[in-house]
Amino acid sequence: MSKAVVSSLYDSDVFKMACRQFDQAADAISLPEHIRDRTKYPRRSLSVSLPIKRDDGSVTVFEGYRVQHNLSTGPAKGGIRFHQDVSIGEVAALSMWMSWKCSLAGLPYGGAKGGVIVDPRLLSESELERLSRRYMQEIAPFIGPHIDVPAPDMGTNEKIMGWMMDTYSNHIGRNEPACVTGKPISLGGSQGRREATGVGVAYLVKAYLADLNLPIQSATVAIQGFGNVGSEAALALAGYGAKIIAISDYTTGIYNPHGIDIKRALAFISSQKVLRDFDGGEPITNEELLTLDCTVLVPGALERVITAEIAPKLRCRILAEAANGPTTFSADRILEQREEIEIIPDVLCNAGGVIVSYFEWLQNLQNCYWDREEVLQKLVVILDRAKSSVDYQKRKFKFSRRLAALTLGIQRVADAKQSRGLFP
Ligand code: GLU
Repeated sequence: MSKAVVSSLYDSDVFKMACRQFDQAADAISLPEHIRDRTKYPRRSLSVSLPIKRDDGSVTVFEGYRVQHNLSTGPAKGGIRFHQDVSIGEVAALSMWMSWKCSLAGLPYGGAKGGVIVDPRLLSESELERLSRRYMQEIAPFIGPHIDVPAPDMGTNEKIMGWMMDTYSNHIGRNEPACVTGKPISLGGSQGRREATGVGVAYLVKAYLADLNLPIQSATVAIQGFGNVGSEAALALAGYGAKIIAISDYTTGIYNPHGIDIKRALAFISSQKVLRDFDGGEPITNEELLTLDCTVLVPGALERVITAEIAPKLRCRILAEAANGPTTFSADRILEQREEIEIIPDVLCNAGGVIVSYFEWLQNLQNCYWDREEVLQKLVVILDRAKSSVDYQKRKFKFSRRLAALTLGIQRVADAKQSRGLFP
């Protein structure tokens, strides 16, 4: 049998990490050789160049991507990242994780991800709008409610999704709210979508603390990243009675052993844009935050922040992966030996976002809208089901929790490919 020709297109540390995770999971479930590479590698990708007019009249060309990893289990699904360090390899890795995440949650979706190499903070609002619209215009032939449904990710938000929905709808000549999720409510966005990822993280943290017989009211929490996911997780965890002792953004970390007033931190961010100079605690470094003595550590920003150097120094009881891919493959090997640390792996931990995206898409397709309570009730049903299946798989095969989650996610995609057969 000839081996797959592995494209060098995606070559990067983060893509290799996603591949190594896949290989380990495929070995663990003895995935047949003939189905492995088909399941592992992204199905197709699009690279776009995006010229936009700047406010000063000049033109800048940005580069963007959309990678569709898997379309065998439904339309592809996944966010769009605007960040200066985006690469096609990173987007490909993120698209793989979307496949396993949707599969694990039992959503009728494949996996995808998009990205544009840009620091959105350096653009004016009108430049950001032109870039968002141009990106959607370029990927529109590749997108659609039954093809691939984008959503927000790091550096994008509901306003951007609104511009993208408008651009797509104009492109096809009719209103098509189901083409993206995470939209403003006025355009068919779902109640609860904005906070869904953070609420899901907090809900799972609460459930795992209960499994460990640790009362959430005496839990301390350190959160790396104070964007949409980190801040909503902080609010929800504080709402459950946990004490948030550290938060951070790219400018600084803030530590307060007596608990940070999250609402005040959010008010500060909304006026100052960054956490630097926030007086709700002492400044700390990123490494100090990650290695704090706390009950729950929540990496909620970029991938690959828990490295082999950091892993032995972690002092948390639960590592709740709100970010995608925050723990490197070699750090994982170290953490597997540290049985006192419970990991809630990314594909489970942050699945709340895409689950409510699914609800948004369903509401758009049916033109029938639910209230927030209904959305959140349905969210926890799916999270509970995914958590139970992961914990059962973990016990049954004596897997780590990450391996349990990945094997479940990968198996369903592989089964679908197997059942569909190979188109000649
Ligand atoms: N970007 C989010 C994620 O990584 C949400 C994706 C979606 O809602 O489609 O899961």
